[in-house]
Amino acid sequence: MTILTGNQQLVKQINKTLVLETILNEAPISRADIAQKVGLNKGTVSSLVNELIEEQLIYESGPGKSSGGRRPVMLLFNEKAGYSIGIDLGVNYILGILTDLKGHIVAEIQKKLSVTGVEQVKQMMIAIIEDLIRSAGQSHYGIIGIGIGIPGMVNNDGEILLAPNLGWKNVRMKEEIENRFQVPVIIENEANAGAYGEKLYGAGKEFDNILYVSAGIGIGVGVILDGQLFTGSGGFSGEMGHTIIIVNGKECSCGSRGCWEQYASEKALLEEAKNIPIPYADKDSISIELLVELAKEGNEEVINLFKKIGAYLGVGINNMINTFNPEQIIIGNRLAMAKDWLEESITHFVKSHTIPFHQQDLSITFSQLTTHSTAVGVCALSIENFLKTSVK
Ligand SMILES: [Zn+2]
Repeated sequence: MTILTGNQQLVKQINKTLVLETILNEAPISRADIAQKVGLNKGTVSSLVNELIEEQLIYESGPGKSSGGRRPVMLLFNEKAGYSIGIDLGVNYILGILTDLKGHIVAEIQKKLSVTGVEQVKQMMIAIIEDLIRSAGQSHYGIIGIGIGIPGMVNNDGEILLAPNLGWKNVRMKEEIENRFQVPVIIENEANAGAYGEKLYGAGKEFDNILYVSAGIGIGVGVILDGQLFTGSGGFSGEMGHTIIIVNGKECSCGSRGCWEQYASEKALLEEAKNIPIPYADKDSISIELLVELAKEGNEEVINLFKKIGAYLGVGINNMINTFNPEQIIIGNRLAMAKDWLEESITHFVKSHTIPFHQQDLSITFSQLTTHSTAVGVCALSIENFLKTSVK
């Protein structure tokens, strides 16, 4: 084996990452096409490819299409080389998923969350992670990381500073979970993770400037600028749910009043539903799933309630569009279930209020990964971290 100097080692690592990324994004692809795409000579590409095959990150498939002469062997990314675990800690549910290294979901567990104490929630999360680990098949790298999406502010260190809807303040759990499972743990705000999931695998693939509105019990916003997740200087940008839309309005769990999420979230929807006659349920057991069913049956009062929530969603979305001039707005999380009854009032509000220049070439859409954006997003963050650190 050749001994490389520090600089040579760094250059090699950069080239190898480039080759791996090209295979990840363009597969099936031949060695010659990689060389041409990344501008390295064929010999260098071949030796890097051989290492990647040995490390089981890629594999050779049968011959590809020939342009005359011998058919080239094609290279593919080995998504079965390991698994990623993603947890979406909602306020009223925990969703855990297991994905391969391309973000395909291979197992999932969802549990209702009726407690919010840190210890109890952590124990539930650990039990879900253990079940997911058991459901993973044999693979070269095993579980490559665990990602956890949190409905609140998370700093760059993974400390949960504030999760108002859970009543959490200054909670650390990253180290404990890392020690327990002996894999890297990433803790990220759920809307940031959701935005990343949609950008990579969902509705945002075609765009580089995206605002992802995570509308669940609260509202958070994930911001993708120039193709990159923007998280602010401390890691907690996007707390749009707490921008004020009504001065001296309804009290909010953040300590302020009149916040957007008091009018346009799942919480607002469920509270307002208590004021209209709802069949099949008492006031405390109304759920968004039930309201969607009633809307499907044509229940006028429920449909009007969705329209009202949609208009309030439009208020905050208008403010964001005027601020960021994005290419795409993606509405995700639990309220996305009610797309059919929200969409028109959201777009109507934007059309009639947002500065027209911003509306040119603007796409307003609902998430493709629906309720799984956050879980898939945190899996993707772990995968990215794994690929970056495993290429040597
Ligand atoms: Zn607030």
